[in-house]
Amino acid sequence: MAKKQFKAESKRLLGLMINSIYTHKEIFLRELISNSSDAIDKLLYQSLTEGAGLDRSDFKITVSVDEKERKITVSDNGIGMTAEELENNLGVIARSGSLQFKEGMDKEKTESEDIDIIGQFGVGFYSAFMIAERVEVISRKYGSEEASVWESEGADGYTIKPCQRDGHGTDVILTVKPDSEGENYSEFLSQWRLKSLIKKYSDYIRYPIIMGEETVNSMVPIWQRGKGEASDEDCIKFYKEKFYDMNDPVRVIRVNAEGAVRYRALLFVPEKAPYNYYTRDYEAGLQLYASGVLIMDKCADLLPECFRFVKGVVDSPDLSLNISREMLQHDRQLKTIAGNLEKRIKSELKKLMTEDPEKYGKFYSSFGLQLKYGVLNGYGAKKELLQDLLVFYSSREQKPISLSDYVAAMPEGQKYIYYACGDSVARLDKLPQSEPVKEKGYAVLYLTDEVDEFVMNMLGSFEEKEFKSVKADDLGLDEDKDAEKRTEEIEKANEKLFEFVKETLGGAVAAVKLSRKLKSYPVCLGTQGEITLEMEKYFSSIPGSENKIKAERVLELNASHPVFEALVRAFAADREKAAKYARLLYFQALLYAGAEIPDPNEYAELISGLIV
Ligand code: ADP
Repeated sequence: MAKKQFKAESKRLLGLMINSIYTHKEIFLRELISNSSDAIDKLLYQSLTEGAGLDRSDFKITVSVDEKERKITVSDNGIGMTAEELENNLGVIARSGSLQFKEGMDKEKTESEDIDIIGQFGVGFYSAFMIAERVEVISRKYGSEEASVWESEGADGYTIKPCQRDGHGTDVILTVKPDSEGENYSEFLSQWRLKSLIKKYSDYIRYPIIMGEETVNSMVPIWQRGKGEASDEDCIKFYKEKFYDMNDPVRVIRVNAEGAVRYRALLFVPEKAPYNYYTRDYEAGLQLYASGVLIMDKCADLLPECFRFVKGVVDSPDLSLNISREMLQHDRQLKTIAGNLEKRIKSELKKLMTEDPEKYGKFYSSFGLQLKYGVLNGYGAKKELLQDLLVFYSSREQKPISLSDYVAAMPEGQKYIYYACGDSVARLDKLPQSEPVKEKGYAVLYLTDEVDEFVMNMLGSFEEKEFKSVKADDLGLDEDKDAEKRTEEIEKANEKLFEFVKETLGGAVAAVKLSRKLKSYPVCLGTQGEITLEMEKYFSSIPGSENKIKAERVLELNASHPVFEALVRAFAADREKAAKYARLLYFQALLYAGAEIPDPNEYAELISGLIV
């Protein structure tokens, strides 16, 4: 029978995999046992829902070793595979995300990145080739009379043939590679070594793993153990292995609820977002068990969208097994659990924020954006839940602070929560419009994410304090009535000048006026109407809506700055010069605002003109 080739891409990946610099070869056993456990989960679930009469005690995973023949066998009596399934499941590596996998492989990698790849792209089974020169998979599907054997020696292909097997399930038989210089494969032929690997990696597997006559694993899932029986370190180890993350989670959340619905949950808040987190490919959800039987691998209904980064397990004796996945969505018990978890996750994140701001900062740089989108989604349905978890850089504290910390530190007389939007903290710190607010001793929150301003608009206020952009016309600072009168007088006296400046700028600005807030800066760029410069920028980044939504720019001049006097003088004596000044001032305003100058050459020439 002719050998079948792995799909072209798979073949290359397999080669890379086998010869990879990966040093953690021992994880092959964990991967095979985990596949066996999944196969048993599937059959147990099917049996419980369809009443086939099998129960938990009927299942087991067996690991045996033949030192002389250099063979390791991992067997299970799970659901098994048909010949077609062998072809589909084992003929293609990395069914999803293989492209990224390939790209990732091209650069040099560290060991922990390898672990990542094994998890994310489902190359679990193929890890067998790291220690085996030949792999046979004998499988018989539950309910079928026929068995098949898949066989491969690595990258040059595989065969599938009919064979015999007693009962349903799968045997994976590895022929261990001969030892070579620097590589000791024979160590995996030791009973003792294999037992210790099972203890190390697969202790929580909920079916007995048998070697000889003895059950090696303790079978109690970690989430069923109390704090005394499973330390945080144990939980973290479990997390990293189960969810293939090389980083420790920033928070471990254990729940043991005894109320209307009984359940246990073990949840984790990751430190870093998976590579595909902000894409459609990321599948959110918690693993759902009913009395220790896996009913769903990624139950999205257990988590609100805004907390979709949370990973973990929920196990309840009160959930019915005879419930279809579609029905589960409407299940009352499940809704109760989801509601409780949402509150709990929030309170744990809040605790993290106060107890360990540095860790929270790491979390926030990965998932802060998710929280912000959470505020915006559903017309602000979750804003109450999320507003306490937001942090923004404060001009006074010179670090990110929460909104409640901002409000608590407000000096008497301050009416608003002030913010400024822009590209970076460094730029915002020099924004002309922030000056009067800061001079008052008020802090300004620097918002550097594109969505931030929308978030502020959605929140509207926090603890009854309204948000106010420092670019707003009325900053709500105690006004000096005389100063306002004087400004109005100067404005009146220079009406013609403002008209001239506006005309000179040829439609670039909707209005020119005197600023009420500038102190040491000569000009700034403001806007009138609902659309701000930041919003315009945001909308113009959305394909298809370029240039459709425009901010109305306003050039604000500082009447008490000598530059203004120079402009007035030029306007009286030399219109050509005044026109040049007007354009220069507009360009300056753009620079202060962190915007691009439309014609940098013109700007350069104007400056040269001033020098000579
Ligand atoms: P993953 O487990 O991440 O899906 P693997 O490469 O480890 O990727 O396995 C590929 C597929 O082969 C599995 O999804 C499963 O359908 C099937 N499979 C592997 N091992 C077994 C087994 N022992 N019993 C039944 N099916 C299995």
